[in-house]
Amino acid sequence: MKKVNQRFEGETYSCRYCGKENTRDDVEEWKCIHCNNRVLIKTKDNKYLVRKQPTEIENHESILLRGTGLYHEILSVVDIDYVNNKCSLNLRGHGNQKFNDEWINVMWNDNEIVD
Ligand SMILES: [Zn+2]
Repeated sequence: MKKVNQRFEGETYSCRYCGKENTRDDVEEWKCIHCNNRVLIKTKDNKYLVRKQPTEIENHESILLRGTGLYHEILSVVDIDYVNNKCSLNLRGHGNQKFNDEWINVMWNDNEIVD
């Protein structure tokens, strides 16, 4: 898995569950070091998102594509490969896209159930 790097500059990480801030050095696997729930990420251009692995993606979420800088709604999860941590998604306006062993930027949904 990719570690936190330059690409994430200017982001802040807060936890909706325990209310504590996480620093970039704290955050591992994009989960809160205090309670292990997913952190809410605020990007430097004020987008709110969470980061998930390809195998954690669900129907009807919207994901931010690095290429377009826009959110694209998932029309359907075409395939999930739990062994190789891959998924294939059908995105509105963008067709089928494959994601392989990477963190995916998912639009923050207030109702999201977090394990
Ligand atoms: Zn927390």
